[in-house]
Amino acid sequence: MAGENNANPDPAPLTGAPLTAAQVTPADIKLSLTAQTLAIDWQDGHRSEFELGRLRRVCPCATCRKERDTPPTSLRILNLPAGGGKIEVIDAELMGHYAINLKWSDGHNSGIYDYKFLRALDAEPT
Ligand SMILES: [Zn+2]
Repeated sequence: MAGENNANPDPAPLTGAPLTAAQVTPADIKLSLTAQTLAIDWQDGHRSEFELGRLRRVCPCATCRKERDTPPTSLRILNLPAGGGKIEVIDAELMGHYAINLKWSDGHNSGIYDYKFLRALDAEPT
C-alpha cells in the first residue's frame, strides 16, 4: 500500500454531513414535460421531486450565475421565469453518470445539473 495518499480529499459539502454515494446516485429518473417536474429516486430510497421552474432559477451554468450575481445597479432584463413562467423544459439528456442537462424552450441549454447539486438542493427550502 505504499504510495497511497489523500491528496484529493472531497471538497467540503455545502451543508451538513457529506453525501454518500447512494444519496447522490439515482436509481430512477422521471422527467415529465407535461407536469414540468423532475422526479429522482435515489439509491438510498429517498425521492426528490423538483419543479423545473425552480431548477431554471438555480441554473448552475456560468451565464445564469453571473446574471444572478449582478448587483442591481441598472435595469436588468430578466429572462428567468417568475413562478409559473412560460419558459419550459422541452428536452433533456443524461450526461454520463453524473448529471442531467436540461434544454429550455427559450433555447437555453447550458445548465448541467449534477446529481450532488440536485440532492443538496432537495435538502434546501423551496
Ligand atoms: Zn443557465
